[in-house]
Amino acid sequence: MIPELPFPLEGKRVFVAGHRGMVGSALLRRLAREGCETLTISREHVDLRNQAAVDRWFNEARPEVVFLAAARVGGIHANDSRPGEFLYDNLAIAANVVEAAHKCRVEKLLFLGSSCIYPRLAPQPMPESALLSGPLEPTNEWYAIAKIAGLKLCQAYRRQYGCDFVSVMPTNLYGPNDNFDLESGHVLAALLAKTDAALKEGRKIVEIWGSGRPRREFLYVDDLADAAVFLMKTWSEEEPINIGAGSDLTILELARLIADIVGFKGRFAFDPSKPDGTPQKLLDVSKLSALGWRPRIGLDEGTRQTYDWYRTQQMASS
Ligand code: GDP
Repeated sequence: MIPELPFPLEGKRVFVAGHRGMVGSALLRRLAREGCETLTISREHVDLRNQAAVDRWFNEARPEVVFLAAARVGGIHANDSRPGEFLYDNLAIAANVVEAAHKCRVEKLLFLGSSCIYPRLAPQPMPESALLSGPLEPTNEWYAIAKIAGLKLCQAYRRQYGCDFVSVMPTNLYGPNDNFDLESGHVLAALLAKTDAALKEGRKIVEIWGSGRPRREFLYVDDLADAAVFLMKTWSEEEPINIGAGSDLTILELARLIADIVGFKGRFAFDPSKPDGTPQKLLDVSKLSALGWRPRIGLDEGTRQTYDWYRTQQMASS
């Protein structure tokens, strides 16, 4: 049965799948204000790629609400070089959690996808209707196919079994708990780490992968968590809904903003042996804006907060 809106979270048992990741940990921070009981599971205890293990856990814990934020994630290089992991792990996690949620009669599930589900050359900004209207960007098609399958699972279970399962499509995210590894991280965290290291080591050059010309949109992860909780309470449709910041910039502009924040006075060099990926990724957020949601943390402020978090972690580990 599809419950009425708004869907209340207060007093509910809410499972955050993927709580140790950047998105899951932001969801836990945000849900602390909702008066609900949050449930999490550790990877060592339950492998979400194993249906029997997931079923067992759902039967014991009996969650009423699920945020499906668990995923195998990574930047352009990780995505491109580990296609098997990105496709299998993400397909398995989505299928197992959606099926278990259906069997345990979870009242509502929200699946987190990605803006890379849209075609490489989709009209910009990209509306939800661009889904499956053209070929995908090859550097992240494995991840994109799994995320498309995840959103289709939600639609299919909604149609066949009447489950209140919805999908949201966030733009590129960043913030505390991001992956700052230079090989496997996304651009914002990787450039923060590279620029910080160059400053500390007195190097004058920071390397940017590709041409620096692709355009990307960035949303601070606490804004994403706020939007996801907002949509859990107010959104119940078969179609996915985009979550974005509403504006984008080039990778070179991002690198300059990071240099300003870090205090790096050197220059940038480009590595053309690395892929640019899709030329532009900017989401059309008119559906979300019409519901009354707006992001609160701009790119400058969010990047400063992320850099502070990174430095605190570094100090703690040194
Ligand atoms: P994408 O949005 O799926 O392409 O993922 P990324 O965040 O990994 O990359 C975004 C853009 O930033 C691509 O054009 C990358 O080539 C570019 N980029 C520039 N320098 C870096 C870097 O050091 N790391 C990463 N991950 N991307 C970089």
